[in-house]
Amino acid sequence: MTAVIVDVDRASSGPFGSVSARRAYLAGLDRLAGLGTVERDLVRLGQMPGLARWVEQVKATGGCAHPVYLSGSTTAVDGATGEVVLRSYSTRGEPGERLAVRCRNRRASRCASCSYQYAGDTFHLVRAGLAGGKGIGAGVASHPRAFVTLTAPSFGRVHREGVCRPARRDVCVHGAPVGCGRVHEASDPLVGQPLCAGCYDYTGHVLWHAHAGVLWTRFTDTVYHRLARVGGVGRSAVRRVVRVSAVKVAEYQRRGAVHFHAVIRLDGPDGPGQAPPGWASAGVLVEAVRSAAGAVSVPVPESAAYGTRALRFGAQLDVRALDSALTDGQMAGYLAKYVGKSVSVSVGGAGAGSLDRRLVAAGQVRALRASTHVRALVGTCWRLGGLPELQHLRLRAWAHALGYRGHCVTKTRAYSVTYGLLRAERADHMGARPLAEAGSDAVVVERRWRYVSSGHSPAEALVAAGIAADLATERDLARDLRPGWVGGARRDPGRVGGSWSPGRPLDVDLVVGGGDRATGLAGGVRRGPSRAEGRRSPGDDPVGDRHGG
Ligand SMILES: [Zn+2]
Ligand SMILES: [Zn+2]
Ligand SMILES: [Zn+2]
Repeated sequence: MTAVIVDVDRASSGPFGSVSARRAYLAGLDRLAGLGTVERDLVRLGQMPGLARWVEQVKATGGCAHPVYLSGSTTAVDGATGEVVLRSYSTRGEPGERLAVRCRNRRASRCASCSYQYAGDTFHLVRAGLAGGKGIGAGVASHPRAFVTLTAPSFGRVHREGVCRPARRDVCVHGAPVGCGRVHEASDPLVGQPLCAGCYDYTGHVLWHAHAGVLWTRFTDTVYHRLARVGGVGRSAVRRVVRVSAVKVAEYQRRGAVHFHAVIRLDGPDGPGQAPPGWASAGVLVEAVRSAAGAVSVPVPESAAYGTRALRFGAQLDVRALDSALTDGQMAGYLAKYVGKSVSVSVGGAGAGSLDRRLVAAGQVRALRASTHVRALVGTCWRLGGLPELQHLRLRAWAHALGYRGHCVTKTRAYSVTYGLLRAERADHMGARPLAEAGSDAVVVERRWRYVSSGHSPAEALVAAGIAADLATERDLARDLRPGWVGGARRDPGRVGGSWSPGRPLDVDLVVGGGDRATGLAGGVRRGPSRAEGRRSPGDDPVGDRHGG
């Protein structure tokens, strides 16, 4: 009753109808003006029409820290009649006529929620290649399989975790001690830093990163050559007899050098469904890997800056046969653990987030919030990147990745399922695909989507972070109660973290991936790609996004 009276009063007189009303109105404006940016944004958000539905959307993205907003529609029509609309969704009824979808960033430092999901998908991808499942036959578990860690060589002495290098009297040409004698905790910022920056081979380090991908390719070729020798077949014929399938994850060590952890499997020439020939045993695989890792080298284009060089893997090599299904889950968890790390988290002395984005100017190198070692690595990329003979290495574009321009996760075509397939499966779990035969001739799915915007305002970011934290707590609780959790990756990422009910447009998530914004969204409209295609085509190629931006 009171409210009505006040309304009538305001309508007749307005805020300037009396001195007291005007004072109250201006005081209100003053209070608003006195608020900080975030507080003012919170006021705005609190008054936003459709706030509840917006919160629901953000929940559905798992509290994604940098969602992509899309506008458009998806319509499924009966292919036979072309008439009956089986299912349709449009953003017309959504707040701001837009829908939030995940950013799908791999790095936990950029988006905790998407990073978690990516790690879970990597877990399933690796494990399916080891133990079968997700459309891969269980027979792969009996194929010869090995776990391999390939390292970069030494580029100079660095402080080590635990008992560091023994203290010595001698000094290097720069007058720095060649030993340390201390014991370093894992958290010690000295770990990974060189004992003498003058002695450290920064050029070698950066060039090695720039050629690590080529080195890996040559390595797998050489594994084939070794197998050919054992099997008594020619080098060109060996791929018609046996197939080497692999998934590898790149991990930065504290010193800033990349490691490769890989699962390598031998199949018949037709892939995972076929056993390799009898002579291709686990022992033969381990031996072929060991010998290939020691043998391969890549020559670097000659330059006046450093002369000639050949790059090889480090002497530290770990190869072991995987012979029990028990270890499959652990192995998958082990690899999945690495994918969420950003360079700045792994590399010692790199300030948080300092290496998350591409550098565009030389001045940014000096301004990096990072140790001298990291700045020297980035600076070396910048300097070498200016040499005409090294243009093809794009060292400046990848300076924030310390010259490594490979992807975090790569796999051969036949190793396992793709991320796209896993996402499609997740959509199924959540009921976004009630039409089991979607993609067949009977159903025509038309999608019209365009990019609207991305990211959160300050207040929105707070809300999203709260949602992400709640979901993480929920997961932790669920993990304590449920068996089957391995290495921080859950068994079934499809069931937790989303609130989609049947009919909700989760398929949008499959049409346009946040991580693929440049190609997925710039085009504006994409029509009916099959869901299984996901956002990247599978193949002997990257399956994850790059270490850099
Ligand atoms: Zn995200
Ligand atoms: Zn030390
Ligand atoms: Zn020195």
